[in-house]
Amino acid sequence: MPVLADLLAALSDGSIEVIDLTAPLSEETPILELPPEFGQTQRFTLSEISRYDDRGPAWYWNNFHTGEHTGTHFDAPNHWVTGQDGASIDAVPVRDLIAPAVVLDVTAEVEADPDFLIEVAHLEAFQETHGPLPAGGWLLCRTGWSSRTSQEDMINNTQTGPASPGMSAACARWVAEESPLQGIGVETVGTDAGAAHSFDPPFPCHAFLLGNDKYGLAQLQNLDRLPPTGAVVIAPPLKIVGGSGSPVRVLALVEG
Ligand code: MN
Repeated sequence: MPVLADLLAALSDGSIEVIDLTAPLSEETPILELPPEFGQTQRFTLSEISRYDDRGPAWYWNNFHTGEHTGTHFDAPNHWVTGQDGASIDAVPVRDLIAPAVVLDVTAEVEADPDFLIEVAHLEAFQETHGPLPAGGWLLCRTGWSSRTSQEDMINNTQTGPASPGMSAACARWVAEESPLQGIGVETVGTDAGAAHSFDPPFPCHAFLLGNDKYGLAQLQNLDRLPPTGAVVIAPPLKIVGGSGSPVRVLALVEG
């Protein structure tokens, strides 16, 4: 089986490139904001244990604190009430952590309207141009939102609440129930649009995808460096026992 040797050779000679789709993880990493009556996720923080000093003369290390859904992260099915009997993050099959990806580019639409929603028609048009969506693959939604690196710009609060792009309820339902995809990846803090609290059902990407044993990837970057089809995404979350999600280093392999 020369396949792995071929892969390593292609990585060495640059004919396969590794693209980092992960946002930097720090105290500045934007996080989801819920209405004040709900529990809130924590920012990522480091607390130093020792740094070559009297607390540990030869070693530097930190404790860290974070929500499971902070920064670039993986949503497990049990994150949502509709998927409560589904897999926790440690139980997501490892085979699903390496998967093909297609990239739908809606940056122009989102530039014109921050509340832009992807509809089934957009996915039909994509398939007419690029062929069928990949079985067991990711649909990565390229919105340009990853250029917004501050909390304020990422959440984009308006008088009616957060304004950020996403997917309509009908489209989320189609992805969950009809498409061969295993999940969607987005550049925003969560897979749903900023206004999705007002959708029917509320937060349809979470409700439909996680309720159908599918997944979400949030706060991706560098989607502009991926081709519309042909990338392979490697997204292994931490094996948090019983957890609902995890920060994840997301890499894409692309053929140069
Ligand atoms: Mn999440």
